[in-house]
Amino acid sequence: MTTPALGRPALDRETCAALDAADPLASFRSRFSLPRGVVYLDGNSLGALPNDTAAHVQRVITEEWGTGLIRSWNDAGWFTKPQTVGDLVAPLIGADPGQVVLGDSTSSSIFQAAVAAARLRPGRRAIVAESGSFPTDLYVLESVQELLGAGVPLERRLISDDGPTLDDVLGEDVAVVVLTHVDYRTGRMHDMADVTRRIHAVGAVVVWDLCHSVGAVPVDLIGADADFAVGCTYKYLNGGPGSPSFIWASEKHLRDARPALTGWHGHAKPFDFTVDYAPAPGIERFRVGTPQLLSMSALEVSLRLWAEVDVDAVREKSLCLTELFISLVDARLTPRWGVEVVTPRESARRGSQVSLRVSHGYEIMQALIERGVIGDFRAPDLIRFGFTPLYTSYTDVWDAVDVLEGVLDSGVWREPRFARRGTVT
Ligand SMILES: *Cc1c(COP(=O)(O)O)cnc(C)c1O
Repeated sequence: MTTPALGRPALDRETCAALDAADPLASFRSRFSLPRGVVYLDGNSLGALPNDTAAHVQRVITEEWGTGLIRSWNDAGWFTKPQTVGDLVAPLIGADPGQVVLGDSTSSSIFQAAVAAARLRPGRRAIVAESGSFPTDLYVLESVQELLGAGVPLERRLISDDGPTLDDVLGEDVAVVVLTHVDYRTGRMHDMADVTRRIHAVGAVVVWDLCHSVGAVPVDLIGADADFAVGCTYKYLNGGPGSPSFIWASEKHLRDARPALTGWHGHAKPFDFTVDYAPAPGIERFRVGTPQLLSMSALEVSLRLWAEVDVDAVREKSLCLTELFISLVDARLTPRWGVEVVTPRESARRGSQVSLRVSHGYEIMQALIERGVIGDFRAPDLIRFGFTPLYTSYTDVWDAVDVLEGVLDSGVWREPRFARRGTVT
């Protein structure tokens, strides 16, 4: 990376403060409401709250709902919100306006996309996914197999970084490949254009899961000639807990794409109330029913903030932050505590998180959280730190490693209270 300070053995907190002072994205931090004394490194799981969100949602409740009532479906543009807010996602994923629509949860959008994709390749009897995928992707694909394999079974082929590889399992019988662009556990990133090309070479269709990419790394779906994509908005995009997923389909498939869930909001003329389903001409066909307007209004605020952001600058800072973290772990933690960096060191293969393999990771993370450094734990043995350049500073990185070193040195994590497991880790 370009940051000259990185790689110097005697990196100190003052150097980090100097990097913060020179950071072109520094002003965005004051646009978020973060609690004092917290180093928040879990924006890859639930993004921070933008300052303007609460007042806007309040206004939607009191004015658009309270006063506007049913009229707001037209007057406040409620009916078209899944598309108008989707248009704000489009530039972040290399899509054109009118190509992205908001859905329900990512899980349901994956179902929508995977079924539509598989139906474009009738007669092909295999689907490919990664065994290390976020489990919901795999669980949803089981339903896709059940649904579309009722007559002739659909075979599932699983790939992983340790093999079998994509090239091992690709063949003319593969209908769909579902891949996560940035792995949720390790932060490993695929080369989207290259992988898409290999999938197309056998005539298969790709669905990209962008949950850990959107808002974290530049994404160019059209440039990569991708087929379908889905993603979360409550992680790097800061839409708030439960904010809706999004779905994108390439123009070349829209005419033939048949979503799994054919609800009235995806109908060509929903207010004709006809007996038969006819898909809307564009991406709106992937809509299902009445959208979650309050969640969408919170998302709209954060996406307006994102519209001011240069995603290339985010990527540059993200790589500097993750590189800084890795070099501090290498220098201070690995030699004494055997902590292993499992995230790729090669920047082109890394998203915006760093995961460390360490035994007793769960207890160590609980002790860190008690000390105000919030990351998370992913079974069986990874502690995960997400770096969100809009509100993570270089001194945050320094302080997080300091606190982690203190937790390891003192052995405080051995105290029994840190072993108690919550429902969510
Ligand atoms: C976070 C995440 C999801 C979440 O799915 P929801 O249905 O929104 O809960 C799905 N896939 C991946 C890869 C994720 O990282």
